[in-house]
Amino acid sequence: MRALIVVDLQVDFCPGGALAVAGGDGIVGAVNDLMPDFDAVVLTQDWHPPDHSSFADNHAGAEPFSTVPMAYGPQVLWPRHCVIGSAGAAFHPGLAVDVADLVIRKGFRARIDSYSAFFDNDRTTPTGLAGYLRDRGLADLTFVGLAHDFCVAWSAIDAARLGFRATVVEDATRAIDLNGSRAAAQAAMRAAGVTLS
Ligand SMILES: [Zn+2]
Repeated sequence: MRALIVVDLQVDFCPGGALAVAGGDGIVGAVNDLMPDFDAVVLTQDWHPPDHSSFADNHAGAEPFSTVPMAYGPQVLWPRHCVIGSAGAAFHPGLAVDVADLVIRKGFRARIDSYSAFFDNDRTTPTGLAGYLRDRGLADLTFVGLAHDFCVAWSAIDAARLGFRATVVEDATRAIDLNGSRAAAQAAMRAAGVTLS
């Protein structure tokens, strides 16, 4: 059975939001149109406490989009975004959220970020999504949403690593493209066995 995983299609990642991805709101219609083709729809929601370690303003003197070492490896520092319960953390108002079977929140631990829908950025702390999908027999996963080169790519790579069939519909994603991150993410996805369609 097939699941559509809609990654972080939230107000803060769309134009006008705190960490806007160019054209991010332009994929909402395409994502909604895909939903009826799947046996299940899962939404992920970036969901950070105010003291989250991925926020540049929680590191004295640090600039947004710089990289710092964390216990689990290098971490990009972002503008403050998707704070728990804030308007920016809400789903894009045009997204067909009622169709979703599951909303999975990630990044709610202050000391570790979570790009992937499956694991925190240590690549070992699970979100529980893999168990949910396996229990429902959803083995064929299609990823859309934001951002192509971070949360979508990390999610798709982890899915392939966990033995799921993983596809990314490029037209229903948009990239941040920070220092060539789009090309790097695409190469990493192909190497992991993710299908880019
Ligand atoms: Zn985040």
